[in-house]
Amino acid sequence: MYESDREELVEILKERGIKSQSVLKAFLSVERHKFVSDAMIMHAYEDSALPIGYGQTISQPYTVAFMTEALNVRSGQSVLEIGTGSGYQAAILCAMGINVFSIERNEKLYNTTRKLLETLGYDVFTKLGDGTKGWESYAPYDGIIVTAGAPAVPNKLKDQLKIGGILVIPTGNQKSQTMQIIKKISEDRFEYIETPNFSFVPLIGKDGWKK
Ligand code: SAM
Repeated sequence: MYESDREELVEILKERGIKSQSVLKAFLSVERHKFVSDAMIMHAYEDSALPIGYGQTISQPYTVAFMTEALNVRSGQSVLEIGTGSGYQAAILCAMGINVFSIERNEKLYNTTRKLLETLGYDVFTKLGDGTKGWESYAPYDGIIVTAGAPAVPNKLKDQLKIGGILVIPTGNQKSQTMQIIKKISEDRFEYIETPNFSFVPLIGKDGWKK
């Protein structure tokens, strides 16, 4: 269902500069309409963020594609996601053959999304908790993606990245953020690329906003 809508969405992503074939292929296969409420289904394949309840959102497809491409990961590698939300970003990574570890702080969203991912056959390791602390047990990761806006980059996330790995995280104030693409060169050296003008719900936690 909605195959032609997904094809049209992929054309929009290409026009906006997304080039990774594995990312574009994942967007063709993952059914975004299954990650939104019935009231939002008619908007599921528009390039826009949508409400998912509890004041949270499923991110805009372009933003998901931009961040996924920036991770530069391939099948068989591992990615830690902070902010499971609807589960759509996790499903995109899973469809690319990535081993996905995802943390959500909102208990209700965590429970609903964990069940949804399981029902849809996406094998994601999920955890309820504060993602600003990372997930030590499975570290280090080839990539870490933070899908909520942070006041600064949590050190624990830099620690839990493999050398050569990439952390993608929006930082700024609570209205507008710059996307930081951070490559770990050695234990204490990082390279930064910044792209402005993103807008996320706040990352709340020990090394995030206090609410
Ligand atoms: N990746 C999600 C998707 O594909 O639908 C979008 C996530 S939504 C923009 C941000 C999510 O981050 C919300 O579900 C919010 O509850 C969660 N969040 C905020 N702070 C968090 C934290 N410290 N740890 C884990 N999740 C957090």
